[in-house]
Amino acid sequence: MLKPPQHFVIVGGGTAGWLAALMLRQTLPDVHKITVVESSKIPNIGVGEGTTAVFRQMLKGFGFDEFEFLREAEATIKFGIRHKDWRRLGHHYDGPIDDPHLVMEPASSRPQSYIDIFSCAAGRRLADTHLFAYLLDQQRAPFARKTDGSLVPMGPYHNAYHFDQAKAGEWLRNKSRGVEKIDAQVNGITREKESGKITALISDAGEITGDFFIDCTGFRRTLISAMGARWISYAKELPVNRAMPFWLDIGEDEELTPYTTAWAQGAGWLWMIPTQKRMGCGYVYSDHFTTPDQAQAEIEKTLGRKIEPRNDIKIDSGRLDKAWIGNCLALGLASSFLEPLEATSIHGTIVQMMVFLSHHINCTTKDADQYNGFAARQLDDFKQFINMHYVSERRDTSFWQSVAQDFISDETKSRLATWQRKMPGWEDFSPLPGGFAHTEQQLYYPVLDGLGLLNRAVAQAHMESLPDLRKNAKSAADTLTEEYRAAAPRALRHREFLKSL
Ligand SMILES: Cc1cc2nc3c(=O)[nH]c(=O)nc-3n(C[C@H](O)[C@H](O)[C@H](O)COP(=O)(O)OP(=O)(O)OC[C@H]3O[C@@H](n4cnc5c(N)ncnc54)[C@H](O)[C@@H]3O)c2cc1C
Repeated sequence: MLKPPQHFVIVGGGTAGWLAALMLRQTLPDVHKITVVESSKIPNIGVGEGTTAVFRQMLKGFGFDEFEFLREAEATIKFGIRHKDWRRLGHHYDGPIDDPHLVMEPASSRPQSYIDIFSCAAGRRLADTHLFAYLLDQQRAPFARKTDGSLVPMGPYHNAYHFDQAKAGEWLRNKSRGVEKIDAQVNGITREKESGKITALISDAGEITGDFFIDCTGFRRTLISAMGARWISYAKELPVNRAMPFWLDIGEDEELTPYTTAWAQGAGWLWMIPTQKRMGCGYVYSDHFTTPDQAQAEIEKTLGRKIEPRNDIKIDSGRLDKAWIGNCLALGLASSFLEPLEATSIHGTIVQMMVFLSHHINCTTKDADQYNGFAARQLDDFKQFINMHYVSERRDTSFWQSVAQDFISDETKSRLATWQRKMPGWEDFSPLPGGFAHTEQQLYYPVLDGLGLLNRAVAQAHMESLPDLRKNAKSAADTLTEEYRAAAPRALRHREFLKSL
């Protein structure tokens, strides 16, 4: 019988490295040795504070205490993303991440978004049937307090978090019990002549051996590059190539937005992510259309205050052609990078580890081939989803003119043409192995609705052709809208909830 490798060596102690260590440790029995090699001389990326619901699912799945995590990572609740000025200046739309179809649809592994289709046909805001849309808007928490003082969840959906990356890293490290830690800088690898597999890492602390190596060295890609992986750039479809992170102070009593703000600007967009103590922000922009000084001045004008950039990072969106070569698997920034518009990075790492652990842990050549196919598709689908966000009415700057003319992909155009004839449905998306969370119709609908890209006449024709379904969808939409609108004011205020932990 095939067995998983006995000794996993993870190189890199950023979020990806410690997530990999934690998930391996939680899944494999203690007989397997896990080593994390991290270099105190090389800093972590130090940004990346918004997650998706998968992070919470992972915490719950491993039985961790969510409240302890919220406290120690100085985390806040995220119900979704508020997209400002993307469709046109002065317009905003919300992308709540709860899927109302989960509670209304009869058991089916791939339900159609019939509540969304009904809402579109009826000319209603799709977000109205989402509990998270109300909680987000009213700056609430996902819990209410009962008369006996205990907390009761507002609904069955998983919210996401924003967190302080350094604090979350510390938490992950502390939870990864029984993991050997080595402080060393890896400078090279030695490989077996015939198979090309890694036999040892060459580091400033000497040789480090193992059976299977996970490259989490961030943008350096120390191991996987030496194994011969190539970078496939998404630069033709994603227009931004620099990121200027900065922090803003948040007053002790200021309310904390339980959502990420993605605010379109003249040459890109600004992210705003609250942790309990500060607002993590950054301008992701294209240096073909502005300079770093102009970018800073533009943000200061937008916010009406001075900022102190912590960095100005050159970014290249894309992925490896093969994330797994021989006995080396790349994760996190070592394997891919996408602008953080839908917080796909930490999400991608968790799902990749889930797929690795549940389907490919024996680490055969076939496993590597299958995993590479999955990882490539996951990333290409993320890229496709992000590209869709740029379908805008804006033409007010040369950046937005160029986006409209040069950056909207053929796939985006083809999908939008299809969705002028039929409503988006599960048949337009391919699920991941094991049904793991992915960018499918439930995430597309709020974005398409927000950007004005759904066709009401098509939705009406769809509903008219299915009168029984229409009746059910109407009843579901009415019930959810009424219930959630009435329930939201009972939820605790976001700041009050976090303080109470
Ligand atoms: C501008 C920006 C914004 C982002 N926003 C988000 C977001 O909102 N949501 C999200 O999900 N993700 C976001 N990300 C991505 C997110 O930051 C990363 O997915 C996450 O932090 C994981 O990073 P990492 O562990 O792969 O790399 P890093 O944090 O860079 O860690 C690399 C580690 O490798 C070690 N190392 C490197 N080379 C060597 C070597 N030779 N030997 C030994 N050790 C080595 C370093 O010491 C470090 O510990 C963002 C990224 C950027 C650039």
